[in-house]
Amino acid sequence: MARNDPQKGIKRTRKIKILATLGPVSSSKEMIARLLRAGVDAFRVNMSHGEHEIHARTISAIRAVEKELGRPVAILCDLQGPKLRVGKFRDGSAFIRHGAHFTLDRNPEPGDETRVQLPHPELFGILQKGQRLLIDDGKLRLTVIRAEPDAILCTAEVGGTISDRKGVNIPDAVVPVPALTEKDRRDLAFAIHEGADWIGLSFVQRPEDVAEARRLMGGYGALMAKIEKPSAIDRLDEIIDLSDGVMVARGDLGVELNPEEVPPLQKRIIEKVRSAGKPVVVATQMLESMIESPTPTRAEVSDVANAVYDGADAVMLSAETAAGQWPVEAVTIMDRIAAKVEADVTYRERIHLAETPPDATTADALSEACASIADTLPIAGIIIFTGSGITARRVARERPSAPMLVLTPSLRTARRGALLWGAHTVLTKDIGSFEEMIAKGKRMALRHGFGEAGSRLIALAGVPFGVPGSTNLLHVVTLAGNELDKHDKSND
Ligand code: PGA
Ligand code: MN
Repeated sequence: MARNDPQKGIKRTRKIKILATLGPVSSSKEMIARLLRAGVDAFRVNMSHGEHEIHARTISAIRAVEKELGRPVAILCDLQGPKLRVGKFRDGSAFIRHGAHFTLDRNPEPGDETRVQLPHPELFGILQKGQRLLIDDGKLRLTVIRAEPDAILCTAEVGGTISDRKGVNIPDAVVPVPALTEKDRRDLAFAIHEGADWIGLSFVQRPEDVAEARRLMGGYGALMAKIEKPSAIDRLDEIIDLSDGVMVARGDLGVELNPEEVPPLQKRIIEKVRSAGKPVVVATQMLESMIESPTPTRAEVSDVANAVYDGADAVMLSAETAAGQWPVEAVTIMDRIAAKVEADVTYRERIHLAETPPDATTADALSEACASIADTLPIAGIIIFTGSGITARRVARERPSAPMLVLTPSLRTARRGALLWGAHTVLTKDIGSFEEMIAKGKRMALRHGFGEAGSRLIALAGVPFGVPGSTNLLHVVTLAGNELDKHDKSND
């Protein structure tokens, strides 16, 4: 990656990050570059759809644009998990009338308005008369009227358009599925091979599911647990504990539970994950109407704004950017909503509503001190030196008012930080001494637009350098202005 070229690098003033799902309308280098310029910080590659070959091309396109733009980008490879889906249709979709009969069977032939394949053999044994099948995030509702060994005959209680590979939720039955399917294992190996920064784990039901994924990841990358099952809510603390980040996966969560249960849960999950000092993402239907319309509904704007007020680390776009007609516009709107909220005078108060006290560690005491100093003095930036990224996460946990410039010699940490609230991460060479750290911190602050001559900065680091979790040094410095001359050629 191009190192520290401010002419090329994208600098944002927004704290909350935007995670955009890539898909057929957005996987080209050109679209990826447009989305990044419009405000995307991290991309989701959804393993539920598409072949490895296509995903590999998408990932290399992201990396190529990342290099061109000179800003670390996180890639989240989202494993499908034990998600149930219907098969494909002859015309890509079919319309099921209200009250009509519809059959789910084992036949792999493309479906129509009377039937489609349900490619999950384990379901044919367990579904019973009267149970509900919710399709496409609950938009369609089928009730089983007769379950045969090879076919499940249903009535469409609520009909509508059903299309290829739409999801099926079965809230009335316990589905005997493992944490990671065979497909997930292959996809995980692929994601690791392709250098994904985050692995998304779908339909987590128990902490053991996360532990199992961790074991398979073998110390590689960061794990994001998607909370979309009621059983995950029951053991939320343990799941957060075992994960590196959490997604409030409102799509499936709102199907498995009544939709009105989701907003309080969203607040509770965000609060808990923030308190653990890990990134939390709010996902699904954020600007849903923008799949087809160039402008969002007022309710959607309000929803995005509320996630920003809740202090989430990131908001996510799904079909809006993967398959919609207005992907760049959706990102632009999201960026504008976030900027507006963060400029609101009540924003700072609101994100601190759910503050939890720092842990009794030196790192947390210093992180809190950073935030407190930034509220007392005009601080142009908090310069954080970190290898593993832990120091950056602990500072971000305090949601400081001053912008965070995260300097790291680890490309992995730099990329992973793209999902962290408020963090502007820059890949730099390692530092060896305190003097070098201060000189470099000032130089990088000037180069990346964190202050000017006379500005005060906080430098935060751990000495000895390179030992994870050793944060023990906080230094307030004033920029002299001659730290970076116009012809600065230093190779940082
Ligand atoms: P999905 O996850 O888009 O992979 O289903 C998000 C959600 O369920 O909200
Ligand atoms: Mn989901």
